[in-house]
Amino acid sequence: MWWFGTTCAGCGTRLAMRTDEGFCAGCAPALESAERWLSVTTLPVAAGWAYTGPLQAWIGRCKQGIFSDPQFLLPPVHRLLRQLTQTGAVTLVAIPPERTRLRARGMHLPDVLVDQLRGRNAKRGWLLERLDRAPVRRERMRTPPVLRARASGELPPVVLVDDVVTTGQTLTTALEALRQVGQPVRAAICLADARPQILAEILSQGTR
Ligand SMILES: [Zn+2]
Repeated sequence: MWWFGTTCAGCGTRLAMRTDEGFCAGCAPALESAERWLSVTTLPVAAGWAYTGPLQAWIGRCKQGIFSDPQFLLPPVHRLLRQLTQTGAVTLVAIPPERTRLRARGMHLPDVLVDQLRGRNAKRGWLLERLDRAPVRRERMRTPPVLRARASGELPPVVLVDDVVTTGQTLTTALEALRQVGQPVRAAICLADARPQILAEILSQGTR
């Protein structure tokens, strides 16, 4: 799949040339890769990018419905997945969206990520269902999602896929739901890491 941008995915500036990079010359160097495993409770969690700068802007635009193909952001996420599949197949499970938000946006980034990451050793599994339907308002942002897991039978261990990890609360909820039905969960990989410890570590190395 090819993505030819006409505007920068970070700042929206019109790009002079066709590109498969997605970001302008000003935004591209400001991308901060993450690729650091830091467990949330017992779950190893890593993301391709730090949730900052142009990447944060890109995700913000996606959530407003201005969506561009994330292909150009996937290499570090693919590397994380390859680390996990070296020892065997996994089942990719996207964190499902709250339903009214999905209707409003028409796309769901974790689903798109799973679609692009899946392969021979990483098949997609539909094991999680979201039960809370009320619109997420600012004051309710800390309310954990309500997730129900389906028993899978004999699927390989799950790798959860989400767009942004902030506190890990959603991932922990998904982990607990899957373990309750006897489904092993191996790790979680996300597009962007917003955890303070990770951001502090990455941004403190920012003098390049
Ligand atoms: Zn830009």
